[in-house]
Amino acid sequence: MPYVGRFAPSPTGPLHIGSLTTAVASYLHAKKANGEWLLRIDDIDQPREKKGAADSIRKTLNAFQLEWDRDVFYQSSDMEKYHEVAEKLVTFGHAFRCSCTRKELQKTGKRNVLGIKYPGECRTRINHYKPTAIRVLVESDELIFIDALQGKQINNLSHLTGDYIIIRSDKLPSYNLSTVLDDSYQGVTHIVRGIDLLELTSIHIHLQRILGIKTPNYLHLPIIVNANDQKLSKQTGAPAITSTSVNKTALIILSYLGLQTPNELMGSTPSELWAWAIQNWDPNNLANQRTIKTLQV
Ligand SMILES: [Zn+2]
Repeated sequence: MPYVGRFAPSPTGPLHIGSLTTAVASYLHAKKANGEWLLRIDDIDQPREKKGAADSIRKTLNAFQLEWDRDVFYQSSDMEKYHEVAEKLVTFGHAFRCSCTRKELQKTGKRNVLGIKYPGECRTRINHYKPTAIRVLVESDELIFIDALQGKQINNLSHLTGDYIIIRSDKLPSYNLSTVLDDSYQGVTHIVRGIDLLELTSIHIHLQRILGIKTPNYLHLPIIVNANDQKLSKQTGAPAITSTSVNKTALIILSYLGLQTPNELMGSTPSELWAWAIQNWDPNNLANQRTIKTLQV
């Protein structure tokens, strides 16, 4: 079976050591299987986007000699298709329009790990006097899948999220819809990403089943956290990757991924390091851990 993997960052800022580690892991996993590795820029949420971030991400991957296959795909290049699919789901009764505001939902919906669980108000509402979002109807079935690293996952979306949003009231497609559709359009077979997205995967599989899309293989990696156990991000002050100490950074990333680089490779170029790492990559080195503590560098 052909392998197609991908790295799909949102251009909300430059890469930091956490996002670059995810990129490297998905790259090693793809190349170990002689697969393709794609770069997709998930630039749907343009209000959150930072100017120049997509360029900076590409430059950083180049500096680290992580070569992607095919042309870079920008999600913003074809916004229409998300709306077409969402409208089709409404037509066929899998989704409905919702005009509840966040304020209303905060009063009636229960809060949980994925935000506020939708209480179902608009399932039968016909007249809407406010801008509408589109939500997918969720029945109370248990959803089971096997994550290649985290093992068996059992979720019930009716407890977790209730009917979830695929088009927001500001008409932007949700991350859940755009990622499921583009992984499918690009023929992605293997998704390697951070464990912070593990719960959302149930939504993705739910959508794939409704749309008749084959579910890819999922592998959720532990995420890199700072000394206060916070996921590295721009918000938690993670510094941007610079191209000044590429070799040193690459070695740190490999150690985060459970790979102890032999001494004779210490001065090697990134592509030499990756070649060695592809041979030695084994995600099971990261089993049974949800986080990786950042080294103080
Ligand atoms: Zn509603």
